[in-house]
Amino acid sequence: MASASLCADAPVLMATQRANKHILLRLDRGRRVRLVREVYLRSDVPCCSELCRRGCQAPADGCASLPAALTHYVLPDCAAARAYWELFELPEVEGVLLTLTSLHHIQGAGGRRLYNRVKSQLRDPRQSTALFDNEFQAECWRDRRPGESEDQHAAGLNWSAARWYAQHLDYAIPIVLVTDGTVEPCQPEDKGGVDVLSVADYVARFHGDKPQVTQIFESLRASLAAAEAASSAEGSAGESTRGDYPEHLSAESLKAGVKSGQFLQGCLHVSRKSGQDTAVVSLSGGAQMLELKASRRDPDRRAARPEPGGARRHRVRPAAAQGLLGPASRRRAADGGLGRRPHGRVVGIAQRNWRDYVCSVEPAADGSSKDSGASKRILAVPWDRRVPKIRIATSQAAALASQRFVVRIDAWPADSQYPNGHFVRPLGAVGHLETETQALLIEHGLAVREFSAKQLAELPAVTEDQPWQVDPQEVAKRRDLRQSHLVFSIDPVGCVDVDDTLSVRRLDNGNIELGVHIADVTHFVKANSLCDIEARQRCTSIYLADRRYDMLPLLLSGNLCSLWSQVDRYAVSVIWELTPDTEVVSVWYGRTVIRSAYKLFYEMAQRIHDGEAMETAVPDIPELAPLLKRDRDLLRRRFAQLREAVSLLVGVANTIKARRMACGGLELEGVEVQAKFADPERTQLEDLVIAECMIFANHWVARKIVAYYPSQSCLRRHPPPRQEFFDSLIRCAQARGFTIKADSNRQLAESLDSCVDPADPEVNRILRTLATQAMSNALYFSTGALPRDQFAHYGLALDLYTHFTSPIRRYADILVHRCLLAALGDSEAEDALLPNQELEAQCCLMNERHRAAQHAQMASMQLFQCLFFRARPPTDPLRLVEAVVCQVRDSSIGVFVPRYGIKGSVRLARSDGSVLDAGPPARDLRSVQAAPPPAEAAPDGCGPRWIPAGSGASVSRDPSGGSLRVSTGPEQKQQVYSLFDHLVVRVSVAESHSHGPALQLDLVARLVSKDAGAADAGGGGKADLVRQVREREEQQEEERRWDLKRRQGEEEGGQQHLLQSTGTLYHFLLDTARRDAKRRRGSGQD
Ligand SMILES: [Zn+2]
Repeated sequence: MASASLCADAPVLMATQRANKHILLRLDRGRRVRLVREVYLRSDVPCCSELCRRGCQAPADGCASLPAALTHYVLPDCAAARAYWELFELPEVEGVLLTLTSLHHIQGAGGRRLYNRVKSQLRDPRQSTALFDNEFQAECWRDRRPGESEDQHAAGLNWSAARWYAQHLDYAIPIVLVTDGTVEPCQPEDKGGVDVLSVADYVARFHGDKPQVTQIFESLRASLAAAEAASSAEGSAGESTRGDYPEHLSAESLKAGVKSGQFLQGCLHVSRKSGQDTAVVSLSGGAQMLELKASRRDPDRRAARPEPGGARRHRVRPAAAQGLLGPASRRRAADGGLGRRPHGRVVGIAQRNWRDYVCSVEPAADGSSKDSGASKRILAVPWDRRVPKIRIATSQAAALASQRFVVRIDAWPADSQYPNGHFVRPLGAVGHLETETQALLIEHGLAVREFSAKQLAELPAVTEDQPWQVDPQEVAKRRDLRQSHLVFSIDPVGCVDVDDTLSVRRLDNGNIELGVHIADVTHFVKANSLCDIEARQRCTSIYLADRRYDMLPLLLSGNLCSLWSQVDRYAVSVIWELTPDTEVVSVWYGRTVIRSAYKLFYEMAQRIHDGEAMETAVPDIPELAPLLKRDRDLLRRRFAQLREAVSLLVGVANTIKARRMACGGLELEGVEVQAKFADPERTQLEDLVIAECMIFANHWVARKIVAYYPSQSCLRRHPPPRQEFFDSLIRCAQARGFTIKADSNRQLAESLDSCVDPADPEVNRILRTLATQAMSNALYFSTGALPRDQFAHYGLALDLYTHFTSPIRRYADILVHRCLLAALGDSEAEDALLPNQELEAQCCLMNERHRAAQHAQMASMQLFQCLFFRARPPTDPLRLVEAVVCQVRDSSIGVFVPRYGIKGSVRLARSDGSVLDAGPPARDLRSVQAAPPPAEAAPDGCGPRWIPAGSGASVSRDPSGGSLRVSTGPEQKQQVYSLFDHLVVRVSVAESHSHGPALQLDLVARLVSKDAGAADAGGGGKADLVRQVREREEQQEEERRWDLKRRQGEEEGGQQHLLQSTGTLYHFLLDTARRDAKRRRGSGQD
């Protein structure tokens, strides 16, 4: 219903005066309701401007204010605000003043989605958008005159509001009333310091130099014009709707149906892999899944095709659509058919989840046509294969042909196969690394803006000449460890930012004191500051194959909160007193100031621990090296002290770990591994030591905060796996003669340790990966949201766990820091604590974004793999790699390529019924690489070949699920593919203009022997791959620039081709690949 304005709860009512306000609300399905509301007029409605000299009260909490340092304030009228709101959302458009009149208009006529967006912008202090409660302001309100239309009345109110502002602020800033011109505002003679502009004039005058603004304005205008033209054409032609799609039921019937149990309500998902014919609904409040399937022969297929994001009528969509299923599904669900999931159909949509879509357009068939400047409607093809094409109106169709760009959906008319949308912004040319990287961030919902000047202004001012220094007053409030403790950090080579440090020493009573010191991020990031709000939204730093996007501004993550050696830093510390066998005697928590003595890398710590002589080690320790020439006695003492500390630390950590492992802690790939930016392949002893200390700190912080805030602490839980998920793991292990017991985490850990094939290290690795896949994900949660018996962390075998040790790159740790400090009596931190419900909502967001960040990281890695292999000639022996079977499916096998960390699928049967005959097995990878490349159609008995359907060949999966049998013909030669079998596959890249490149794995040969040494065949694994591709891309980018410069000089076609071909081999190949792709598309085979 018409809610009171957001900021209307000012406490004091001054001279009040009653008036009546008529509100017209448009409900779902076009019904209108008229309400009459009494309003109390006041004279003290705040103006929310920093320019105010009349002592307005500061706006209520959570309401933005208008900055003083702007060129103007802009007040959009009702229609302009509704039609062009996206314009006013842009960070470039500042000082937006929205009246309550316009907000009510949006609520009534703009739909719920738009209304929610407007409200969330008004609440976001990062945006300088203010709401003016003009209808409560006595000087701005007037009753509707007889004969005056609702729109005219609203226009008049907005006009009064604009004039009031100009006068109230003593004409200190121009007020611009923006109108879309549909309603003539009754313009008085005296404009009272207000400029009235059309949206087009406003954009041209104030933002003409900002492409972001002009582009979206043009796009919105074209889209509105197209919608208008379509509706008038329909009106004049009287064209009947095609009626392809059955109407959804009314909201009332849906509600009643759900209540009576006739319909089921749930969240709809479409897998990226299973294509466009199947969707799954997970029902709210239960694990039961319903399947929605559209058969290929179904005449209604188009209508039933699952459409993510845009669901209407019969369509269904994944991820957060609340689908409502009809009677058929209910019946089949009741049948509870074994094996087959119940089916259903969507009868209504409770909530849509439209987002930004990355799109491209198929290149025009007639070659390059030039834009005539006229707007035309084109179909944009979303990057996400699950999303239908989106119809957009644009005047730049030809310019968009080779681009990726962002599109938003506006509506999906009942009679249309495609939803209507509009162009938002360009991302760049298809195929470029930058474009593709931005695309995958947007597709994973992770697009981030740069930190704004306002956000950066909250941080201390630091320059190179004036580095940041600790404040003596602040130091006095903290425990000072700078003299008393030897603090040091150990990180992977190349790691620049240090967020955790350690200290360890033997106490006089024979006990050991261990300290973990974490950067005190919350000292700099105050609760509800702009940086805090930004970090709360981002939740995590994002690590892609070649770059990262920080959660916090670089000044914090790369300086003030980086615990470098030889500088003073604020920290939050946990310090234990431990008995020699690591029983905890006491724990101290608190704020400290530290000065790390050494910033060590793993490898150096290992060398020190291994007893390397001082003479050879010290030159590699920058903090000690200067002493070599100056003071050898001091050096000897310092080095001995460091070696003692490192050795003590290793001893302590190993004991702590052994204790935890004895309780059933698991060492699994992917469970709580710290994703640091540097080399991901770390298996050093020191690495495990640091990780163990961090786990220890996280555990003890969890204990502390739960004790103080049992219902509003942020913890991390890892639910025990469902036993049935282990079945395939157990079967796989059996295939190799191993036994896995998964009754408890301890049994699982022990049996995984014993599954080792000395001849094939991949066996254990794959089994651990399978075990990880069988696990549930670890999740953040608020302790008030779950019963105590669900708090535990299964993988780490700890009853309580949280994240405390990386506040630079995870927001959860920031929440935990505040919670810990509050528990220690810090009143500021206590004020910032989130109540249970809010905390739980934030935990859900963090879980979602962590998952998205991981998926984006994988997608980025895959993109690099594609760029790497795309650059190699088809016959390059590097394309031939050894792969291990890690999964058996119905007509394909899942394989893992250890050399590049690639996971993929190898097809053994095609949808046309043909089956792959792999031929006789080969001896090893080298012999396959040495063999001449097979011709397209391999001669009999040499290399794999496809046997067409009908010649007796078949594929069948073993009943146990552990192997796949291929019978290759009448003579029934059988080829068996089992788990852990080694194969040789050829890696190639399947190009797609619309959806980006993808790796393709094709079987080249089966291997007889298990070639354990396959990983050494030249090249250097993942990190090397990323570096190579990155370097090539940069070089190419440079050449593109150079090329452009040259071309501007000489407009000659032949020259251009020559220039492009003079680049690197990589460049040449890339161009060839693109030309090939273009040709393929031309002949319609994409
Ligand atoms: Zn004021």
